[in-house]
Amino acid sequence: MVNKLPEYEYRMPKPDADFVRQSIVYKLIFTLGVDPREAKHEDWLNAAMFAARDLMTESFLKTRRSHIENKKRMVYYLSMEFLMGRAFVNALINEGVFETFNEAFKQLGLEFSEVAEEEEDPGLGNGGLGRLAACFLDSLATLRIPAMGYGIRYQYGMFKQEIVDGQQIEKPDLWLEQDMAWQFLRPNKSYPVSFGGQLHSHGSIKHWEPGEQITALGYDEIIPGYGGDVANTLRLWTAHAGDLFNLAEFNKGDYFSAMRAQTSDGNISRVLYPNDSTDSGRELRLKQEYFLVSASIQDIIARHKCRFPNIRTLADEVAIHLNDTHPVLAIPELMRILLDEEGLSWQEAWGMSCKIFSYTNHTLMSEALETWSIDLMGRLLPRHLDIILEINKYFIDALRAIGHYDDDFIRRVSIIDEEHGRRVRMAWLAVIGSHKVNGVAKIHSDLMKTSIFSDFARIFPDRFTNVTNGVTPRRWIAVANPPLAAFLDKNLGEKDWRMHLDHLTNLNKLVDDKKVQAEFAEVKQYNKQRLADYIEKELGIKINPQALFDVQIKRIHQYKRQALNLMHIIDRYNKILENPDAEWQPRVFIFAGKAASAYYMAKKIIRAINDVATVINNDERVRDLIKVVFIPNYSVSLAEMIIPAADLSEQISLAGTEASGTGNMKFALNGTLTVGTLDGANVEILEHVGDENIFIFGNTVEEVEAIRRQGYDPISYMEQDPDLRRIVRQITTGVFSPQEPSRYSDVLQASGDYYQLLADFRSYVDTQYKVDDYYRQPEKWRRSALINIANMGYFSSDRSIQDYADGIWHIKPLTDKELPHDPHVIQQ
Ligand SMILES: *Cc1c(COP(=O)(O)O)cnc(C)c1O
Repeated sequence: MVNKLPEYEYRMPKPDADFVRQSIVYKLIFTLGVDPREAKHEDWLNAAMFAARDLMTESFLKTRRSHIENKKRMVYYLSMEFLMGRAFVNALINEGVFETFNEAFKQLGLEFSEVAEEEEDPGLGNGGLGRLAACFLDSLATLRIPAMGYGIRYQYGMFKQEIVDGQQIEKPDLWLEQDMAWQFLRPNKSYPVSFGGQLHSHGSIKHWEPGEQITALGYDEIIPGYGGDVANTLRLWTAHAGDLFNLAEFNKGDYFSAMRAQTSDGNISRVLYPNDSTDSGRELRLKQEYFLVSASIQDIIARHKCRFPNIRTLADEVAIHLNDTHPVLAIPELMRILLDEEGLSWQEAWGMSCKIFSYTNHTLMSEALETWSIDLMGRLLPRHLDIILEINKYFIDALRAIGHYDDDFIRRVSIIDEEHGRRVRMAWLAVIGSHKVNGVAKIHSDLMKTSIFSDFARIFPDRFTNVTNGVTPRRWIAVANPPLAAFLDKNLGEKDWRMHLDHLTNLNKLVDDKKVQAEFAEVKQYNKQRLADYIEKELGIKINPQALFDVQIKRIHQYKRQALNLMHIIDRYNKILENPDAEWQPRVFIFAGKAASAYYMAKKIIRAINDVATVINNDERVRDLIKVVFIPNYSVSLAEMIIPAADLSEQISLAGTEASGTGNMKFALNGTLTVGTLDGANVEILEHVGDENIFIFGNTVEEVEAIRRQGYDPISYMEQDPDLRRIVRQITTGVFSPQEPSRYSDVLQASGDYYQLLADFRSYVDTQYKVDDYYRQPEKWRRSALINIANMGYFSSDRSIQDYADGIWHIKPLTDKELPHDPHVIQQ
């Protein structure tokens, strides 16, 4: 067996409260150099994080060793974004030491929640795509799947949003200022990343002589699985530090431009690209994408060579997953190394590459599909462009050889778009170079095959598949909603739902139990009060915690239709003024979300929400029947507070536009009823909770398409609907912007109502009245909320990851036997 070298053995004491308290004080003094008498909450947090990291480090190192010793096939998850949220409480819960730390804090005379609040929330992602990657890492570790994430350690993540005079202001996010107790710098994990220069050809041999080179340096973040016996690695790359960042640039407004000017010749990993759904090709972004990919592929190959003698077995030992097209340069990068450095033939290299890669598509909106001009690609990455053209040539030659594809078809599927100034279509490269391509909800995966990838679905009918997204119950119940977790422990009589979310179905037996309903109501009320307190403290707005909390929190985007929500609010306002004595259900409308810094319309929507809020909140005639609140700086930690407090979840995107959504799942899991369109995962949530427990409205995908085909005419809807006419008039004539009446005069014309708000308005408002009626029957509402929770097991990211592992990656978890036994001894 293992050759024991006793002098390498370290025996970790049992982590009881005494030990943890000692450990925290030790870290405070000897790691941070802070006198306990002078320590601030932030210092205590840092010390506690170091103490917690020690507990995770054992399983972290042992997990790595089990991967190596058992020669486990690995999956590598490449993503430009990881929206991790705060790490501390999550780690304590996953390690099973939350209570112990709580007790240690008590002994130190510290209020746990106040200390935990000090943690920065690293925003290394824009929204759903980055948060999905974070939920997946949690599930990969919990399911003990041999996996590693690769990303970029942006110095500045997502900007901090402030609202000044109703408008979004972007401020830099200085998340690295806090000591990052969670990450290990790995000075020996460094790789050169090259750009530019010349490509020389000697017959079929290519030699790339790069023009510049930078170094990628790895930081390892521990990803603790729930249960404490496995911890995986998220490896984040940073470029060597460059020039200092100039704060004054920020006051000019365009966050990304200001950052970009700083970065173009400096530090590639300095700032997160601020947009997850529209393409604006920028050199820095392409450099960032290649930076991630090049460092990661080099690392993956180096790791393979440590374990196996032959590069030719790479496809047997690794799977690489591409989260959207952002890391798709991994395909030509792997090809380059296999061809130019390992000396494999094209056929060998391509055969391996296709087996290794798989790709998730996240959007069908053509304007959001990434393309890069041939010129830029050739200048920055001449060898990669050469390889891409070669891939394309083989692909097209093969199609021509089959015979039944015409020239028009071949032009459509070519990786090179010849019609818009010769551009590389990254999604096409991803489809051609992967063995599986998945959408993220059933409806999205079906539409993928009939819309953007319809031609490819003819060529590769078996390549396309679905993996419906999921969210991790550890973060979204155990961390975000402790009273709900306690409620579930008690009423299910077990704690295993954290790892087996389908156990929630047992709650179905209790949904009619009045006592259980009352307990749930108490949980919800506690969370509503907590949010009301936050809103009063941060924004000075008093809201009624008994009112219906109607919540829309997500990135601000036209397709998500925050403006439709706003139109309903205005309509309700009008109706209350007309009919003040009717029985109105008091509602608090809560919004949060960031707009991409260069997205004019999205910023206008934020301003409109705040303008409407100002008028309505200050109109005494409304009493507290309506309050409108925009909570600034949406983030994972804010989501953790808002979601458990929500009664109603707004998932109102135009059918066919939201690939899946994951916010919708987090709400339902926390006993919030959804008002939504038949879009993304709403469709599957409906299937699971049943149509009496969700409020569906609006046109279907088929109806939306039919309306588009006939020529959508928004004006006709106004002509038929005086309420709608009045709302549009009020907005465009300045009823909500009296200081500047023309502020919104252009909005309808400018957008042409591309997302068909007016077509869905009537159905939406009618449905909202049904919501009111239902809410006034608390027993029914609570029963429905419980049925939502009970039937959300399917939407655990554990299920998503199991689907990927079985159907796409063909990868097996570490077994009990392969796991290191003694949990508290590190041995050599
Ligand atoms: C879940 C989540 C999202 C995604 O929300 P959608 O409603 O699916 O768009 C975005 N941002 C944060 C911080 C999240 O937690």
